[in-house]
Amino acid sequence: MIKYVFFDLDETLFDFPTSERLAISEVLVKFGISPTESTVKRYSEINRYCWDLLELGRITKGELLEKRFVILFSELCVNVSPSDAQAVYENALGSHHPLIHGARELLSELYGKYSIYAVTNGTAIVQDRRIRDSGLHKYFDGVFISERLGYAKPDVRFFEAAFANIKDFDKKLAIIVGDSLRSDILGGKNAGIRTCHYNPVGRANETDIMPDYEIKKLSELPGLLKEL
Ligand SMILES: [Mg+2]
Repeated sequence: MIKYVFFDLDETLFDFPTSERLAISEVLVKFGISPTESTVKRYSEINRYCWDLLELGRITKGELLEKRFVILFSELCVNVSPSDAQAVYENALGSHHPLIHGARELLSELYGKYSIYAVTNGTAIVQDRRIRDSGLHKYFDGVFISERLGYAKPDVRFFEAAFANIKDFDKKLAIIVGDSLRSDILGGKNAGIRTCHYNPVGRANETDIMPDYEIKKLSELPGLLKEL
C-alpha cells in the first residue's frame, strides 16, 4: 500500500526544457546576444553539466547558478556579469511553467487518495512561483525544496528533513517518482523508500542505480500505485 507520493518537479511534472529555452532566450536578448538555436542548446548542455557536478557533490548550488553563465559567456567571448545574468534568468524561469503532458490530470486523479509532496533541487524562489502560477500548489500537501532544507537530493538528509515535516510518516508507505536516476532514484533508495523512474523516452540506464519501478507515461502511475 502507498500513502505518500513524492514527486520530483523538473522533467517529471514541469516541462523544464521548454521553460529553460524561453528563459535563456530572454537572458541572451537582455544582454544583446542573439538567442540562436545553437547558443540556447549550448547553454542547456552547460547547465546539465553543472547540475551533474552538483549531484556528484563537486560544486555547491550557489556555484552552479553562476558557473553555467561564466562558461557560456566565456565561450561566447562576451563580458556579462554572471550574477546579473542569473538574476534575469531566475525571474524569467519563474515566469514560465509549462507542464509535462498529463501532469495536471495525474495530480488531480491522485488528489485525495494519497498525500502528495513535491521534492525538488530547484531554486526556491523559482519553484515557489511556478508551483503557484501553474495552479499545482492545490494538489500538494507539502513542497520540499533543497535550498530551504539545506541538503539536496540524493542526500539522505534532504529526505530525512522532509519526512520530519510529515506527521506519522511511514517510509514503508512512501514512493518517489522522478526522472533522474542519480538524484531521485538514488535519493529514494538512500532514504529507504520505494522508487519509480519516470523515463518517457526509454533512455538506457547507464548507472548501477536500479529503480523499483519504471513508467513511460505519467498516466501509468495511478494503476501502479493501486497495485503496491
Ligand atoms: Mg527532474
